[in-house]
This record gives sequence, structure tokens and C-alpha cells, in this order.
Amino acid sequence: LKSKEWISCKQYFNYECAYCGMTEEKHKELYKQQLHKEHAFPNGANDLSNCIPACKSCNSLKSNYEFIDWYNQENERFSEERIHMINRWLENDYKQFKR
Ligand SMILES: [Zn+2]
Repeated sequence: LKSKEWISCKQYFNYECAYCGMTEEKHKELYKQQLHKEHAFPNGANDLSNCIPACKSCNSLKSNYEFIDWYNQENERFSEERIHMINRWLENDYKQFKR
């Protein structure tokens, strides 16, 4: 993943964790680090088609699950709006940012 691609990805997600919405600013305050590069599918590609930004907490809770097995209605962090954004990104929108 090229750094420009990663920046485009974070911009797309408004510099927020794709799962819970924590901002990168808040994340830096709490954890002294940027949002993590999260693989939506643990065995998927290491490129834009499989990367979304996630906070440290979501990243570690999701662990090796496929995102849909963890990020669903039963998850208290779940939001319809955010899962639509994740799906749009993974299905199509990442393509316009590939270098
Ligand atoms: Zn999060």
C-alpha cells in the first residue's frame, strides 16, 4: 500500500475509524499513534481493495474475523451509515484511488 493511497483511504473515511467513528485526532490523543491499517478480510490482499482505517480498539477486537462476522447488528459499535461506507469502499470506490 503506497502512502498516497493510504491517505486517500483515510480521507474517504473522514479520518475516522471505519467501524466506530473515532477521529484520528482523538486516536492520537489517546494512543499516541495514527489510525491502523485494517484488513477487512484477514486473508485478503494487502492493497486498497482490502484496507480501511480502524482505531486500536476496533482493530484488536475484530482480530482475525472477517469484518462482517464482527461488525454487524449485534455489535454495539455498529452503524448502518458506516457499514454502507465500508461496503461502497470495498466493492468499488477504492478503485479510483489506486495508483
Ligand atoms: Zn474504532
